[in-house]
Amino acid sequence: MLFSLFFNRIIFLLHSITNRRVKLKWVLPVIFCLVLCGCNVQEVNRTDTGMGTILHIRLYGQGECGRISEEIPDQIRRMETEEISWRYETSLIGQLNAGRTVTGISKELYDALATCKTLAADSQGAFDITVGALSRLWNIDAYSGENNIEYLVPTKAQLSEAMETCGYQNLFLEDGSARLEEGGQMDLGAIGKGMALDRIRSFLEKQGNAVSGGVISLGGSILTWGCKQGNSPWEIGIVNPFDTTDYVGVLSLSGAWCVSTSGDYERYVEADGVRYHHILDPRTGYPADSGVRSVTVLSKSGLLSDALSTACFVLGIEDGMELAKRYNAEILFVDSDGKLVLSEGIKAYFRLWNSKE
Ligand code: AMP
Ligand code: MG
Repeated sequence: MLFSLFFNRIIFLLHSITNRRVKLKWVLPVIFCLVLCGCNVQEVNRTDTGMGTILHIRLYGQGECGRISEEIPDQIRRMETEEISWRYETSLIGQLNAGRTVTGISKELYDALATCKTLAADSQGAFDITVGALSRLWNIDAYSGENNIEYLVPTKAQLSEAMETCGYQNLFLEDGSARLEEGGQMDLGAIGKGMALDRIRSFLEKQGNAVSGGVISLGGSILTWGCKQGNSPWEIGIVNPFDTTDYVGVLSLSGAWCVSTSGDYERYVEADGVRYHHILDPRTGYPADSGVRSVTVLSKSGLLSDALSTACFVLGIEDGMELAKRYNAEILFVDSDGKLVLSEGIKAYFRLWNSKE
């Protein structure tokens, strides 16, 4: 009914402008083009869970955004349960951890594992996806956020035992197959969210023009896509580690980017007045203590942004800055005094956030 009123009005307007009879066959395509040209841009928001954290999806586009936003959580869940989570015995990582040789690994996962090995070597072992035994011993994920718990800090003997099983050299990759040295345990917690963002980006690329813009956040990792309505860039807030309800600054990004933050405020436990967080230094066995509270990495690759934010958190400012440069990534550190240290390239996207503005 409304549409027919609108339609009649258009015919009437065109009729008065041209002062001649408007043929129906021209009017329909005109309306169709008007609709396509943005009169009908839709905004879809969806919240779900994935990879043990909160997933937020915001998409702008034509009529298919609803369907697309529904498929994203399913894709993440499949990746988690079938491929990368050690919590599922049947996932590829679950099988590797059980000592099996896994063949026919997808190129995407095989390449990701190979990149992680290289990054482990480049970071002198500060980043290492074979930290599974150590991260399970600390088990910070399970206790983080719980009040009134009695957390038992692992003993030095327990830590030494777990550290013996760590070592990226114990992961063998050959012709699409992978194997771990006996006792080795992988944990892809440092890269899973970034890998998921890469997969979502490929999925969005396959949707043609259906999505004109979007932002997808999965815990500390965020994918931007296209632009907001009105062609304005996405504004990604960087959490203030000293007050997690506030931001230290904002990154303004247009197009496809990945931003990952690793921070000691994300998951931690407290015991005897000491805070133990979830980013471990595989060389000491303890939570990394490199003088930084958070590290944010900007890259075109989700895998790299996620892997580098963890690696550079462990390395600290000087070595972390070097490593990020080597991988063409931009980086921002918040040190333990609250000082911000930025790579040259990130400055073009960054502005300080004043919460009183
Ligand atoms: P992220 O929050 O991306 O920095 O990842 C932290 C998660 O990665 C932890 O919860 C562990 O599962 C895993 N992890 C901890 N320390 C390391 C490390 N040094 N190298 C690789 N993975 C780690
Ligand atoms: Mg990470």
